[in-house]
Amino acid sequence: MQLDKKTFVGSQLKQICICIFLLLVSCRLFGGQSQSPTPTETDAIFELVTLGDAGGIQDGNLSAFLFRVLSEPNYIALDAGTVINGINVSLANNAFKYLELNKDKKLSLTGNILHHHIKGYLISHAHLDHVAGLLIAAPDDSNKPIYALKSVNQTMQDSYFNWKAWPNFTNRGIQPHLNKYQVIDLVPQQGLSLKNTQLKVTAFSLSHSVESTAFVIEYQNNLFVYFGDTGPDEMEKQGNLAAIWQYLAKQMQTKTLRGLVIEVSFDNQQPDNQLFGHLTPKWLLSELTYFYSLVEQKQQFQSMGVIISHIKYSLESGLDPRDKIQQELQQKNTLGFNFMLAKQGQRIIL
Ligand SMILES: [Zn+2]
Ligand SMILES: [Zn+2]
Repeated sequence: MQLDKKTFVGSQLKQICICIFLLLVSCRLFGGQSQSPTPTETDAIFELVTLGDAGGIQDGNLSAFLFRVLSEPNYIALDAGTVINGINVSLANNAFKYLELNKDKKLSLTGNILHHHIKGYLISHAHLDHVAGLLIAAPDDSNKPIYALKSVNQTMQDSYFNWKAWPNFTNRGIQPHLNKYQVIDLVPQQGLSLKNTQLKVTAFSLSHSVESTAFVIEYQNNLFVYFGDTGPDEMEKQGNLAAIWQYLAKQMQTKTLRGLVIEVSFDNQQPDNQLFGHLTPKWLLSELTYFYSLVEQKQQFQSMGVIISHIKYSLESGLDPRDKIQQELQQKNTLGFNFMLAKQGQRIIL
């Protein structure tokens, strides 16, 4: 077949255009250090930025995440072990590349995110590795609500916001009240809209050395769950995880569970009598297998991200607990869960 010059140039141009288009699409999907289990930028609904991924003892990288609906620039913080350092690492990692940033000239980028984009805190429990960042940033934070179960808010008030450990930045407890944080008690298994966002939250009590919390977050027909520290039901004997798995399985008949953040603190070498209310790969897989058995819409697991948080930082030489835990999860992952280890500064879309 022979092509005349015009047709040849035309087809060359068409090919170049297709190449540029494919290049642009791939940059958009994989740019900005983002990662997602399967959704692309166009069909993802939620964004999760990891401010801190570790479950102790690494100050500057303790449990904290920012979560938002991609269609609005308003985050809710899920725990707050590390806040300012987490925002800085995330900025350096381009995790806020797709956020329409507020441009308050009096504030740095970090200040803009803290003041204008974080609209509240959901606190799972009052252990320091989940609240230290909030406490330390409080003097320079903007006014916003703190949402938690009643016992968690009470511990925060008694232990930190007591004018001894720290000034009382809240609107409750020991006078005077600095009224920066409006403390809101969540009622277990009762939905509540989160102020200044389109998100709704439902809290579930979790069994840990103190009462901890899982937050089911909802937007239209989409769900996401953040688990605070928790032991497995078989050890804790309270059936708290079973209650949430059953709730989710029912919700998934009409809604899509896009992802969850759940803890794995230790590898499988940790003896069961020394779990201190935490999970290992073995116990997480056992919990997820039960959850899987309850869900009728099993295809949802194919695109659901299972994000592992709270891996305990190790001081032992030559040991990376992250590698070990990842290996142990994958070796027994017969149901094909999309495990991802949370990493500070990383943006995930779901
Ligand atoms: Zn913890
Ligand atoms: Zn804890």
